[in-house]
Amino acid sequence: MIRPLSTEPKASDMTGPASNTRVVLAERPLNRSVRVSDFKVEAAAAPEPREGEVLLRTLWLSLDPYMRGRMSAVRSYAKPVEIGEVMTGETVSEVVASRSPALKPGDKVLAHSGWQEWAALPAAGLERIDPQGMPLSYFLGVLGMPGQTAYCALLGVGQPKPGETVLISAAAGAVGQVAGQIAKIKGCRVIGTAGAPDKVAYVEALGFDRCIDYKGKDAEALGAELAALAPKGIDVFIDNVGGAVHDAAMANLALHGRVVIVGSISIYDRLETPDTGVRWNRQLLVKRARMEGFLVWDWRHQTQEFRRDVSEWLREGKLRYREDVAEGIAAAPRAFIGMLSGENRGKQLVRVAAATG
Ligand code: NDP
Repeated sequence: MIRPLSTEPKASDMTGPASNTRVVLAERPLNRSVRVSDFKVEAAAAPEPREGEVLLRTLWLSLDPYMRGRMSAVRSYAKPVEIGEVMTGETVSEVVASRSPALKPGDKVLAHSGWQEWAALPAAGLERIDPQGMPLSYFLGVLGMPGQTAYCALLGVGQPKPGETVLISAAAGAVGQVAGQIAKIKGCRVIGTAGAPDKVAYVEALGFDRCIDYKGKDAEALGAELAALAPKGIDVFIDNVGGAVHDAAMANLALHGRVVIVGSISIYDRLETPDTGVRWNRQLLVKRARMEGFLVWDWRHQTQEFRRDVSEWLREGKLRYREDVAEGIAAAPRAFIGMLSGENRGKQLVRVAAATG
C-alpha cells in the first residue's frame, strides 16, 4: 500500500510504519533496455532499529543512471544488486525513531537506504543535512552527488581556463546542466548536446552558448556541427554519454584538450558486450590531449568546498536548476526507465513522503 502524501504528521508515522513498500530487482536485463517487469513492488515487514540504529522514513529517492549498472552482474566499481534485493539508491530521509545519541527524531539525513519507504540503518553511516534554506531534494541533486560530479569533473579534472571552449554531453540532465553553468561562471564558451528540441531550448536559456540536438545524427554529422561551432576545437569535454557524441567530440579536440569520462549512458543497455569502436589514440597523440576517467567517490575531500561554492551560486542566482519529480515509491521503476531514455526534464527524483517538520 502506498502511503498518501501529506504535510500533516500522522500518529502512526511517529511510532513507526505498519509495513514497508519497497522495490526489489526481479530480473537482470541482459543486453536490452530495462522493463517494468525487471522490478517487483512488494510490501515487506516494517524494519525495527537495533542499538546504534535509527528508523528512517524516505522523503526523497534519487534515480540515477549508475543504477542501470547495478542491475547487471558485469564487474564494475561497485557490487551488483542481487535478485530479490531492494534496489540501491540514495535518499533524503527523516529520522522517526533513534537508538543512537548521534541523531534525534526529526533530523534529516542523506542515506543509502534504497527504493523503499522505510529503513533501519546505523546512525554512524548517515550524514545529517543542514539545509540552510535550501530545498531538501537539492541534496540529491545540485548540492549532492550529481552536482559534485559536475563541479569536480569540470574544475578538478577538466580545469578549464577563461575563454576556453567546453563541451558537455547530456547537457539538460542532473550533471550536465550544473557543469555547463559552472563553466560559464568560470568564463568559458560552452556548448551542450541534448536529445530533444525543448531540452536544447532549456540548455540555451541557462546561458550555454549553443546546444546541439544529437538525436538521429551520426558521428560525422555531429562532428561537422561541432567543427562549425568550435573552429579552434574543444578544450574540455565532459562526456556523460559516450557513443556518437563522444566520437564527434574526439574528432574536434583542441591542442592539449582534456576529455573527462564521467558516464557512457549510450551503452548502459549493453554492458555485457565490449564497447569497441573508433580508436582515438592517434588523435590523443597529435593533440597532446588527455583522457581521464572520473568517479565522484574519489572526490569526497572536496564536498565542503563544492557545497559552499554551489550554494553561493544558487543564492546569487548565477546557477539555475530543474528537477523532475515522480510521486510515490511504486512510481520509481517507470520514472527510472523514463530517465534512462531521456524522458526526464532535469534531475529525476521520487517524492516518497512529506517531512513532518
Ligand atoms: P541525466 O539527468 O542526464 O539523465 C540521463 C540522460 O542521459 C537522459 O535524460 C538522456 O538525455 C541521456 N541519454 C540517454 N540515453 C542516451 C544515449 N543513447 N545517448 C546520449 N544520451 C543519452 O543523468 P545524470 O546527469 O544523473 O547522469 C549523466 C551521466 O553522468 C550518466 O552517464 C551517469 O552515469 C554519469 N554519472 C557519473 C558519475 C561518476 O562519478 N562517474 C556520477 C554521476 C553521474 P537526452 O534526452 O539528452 O538524450
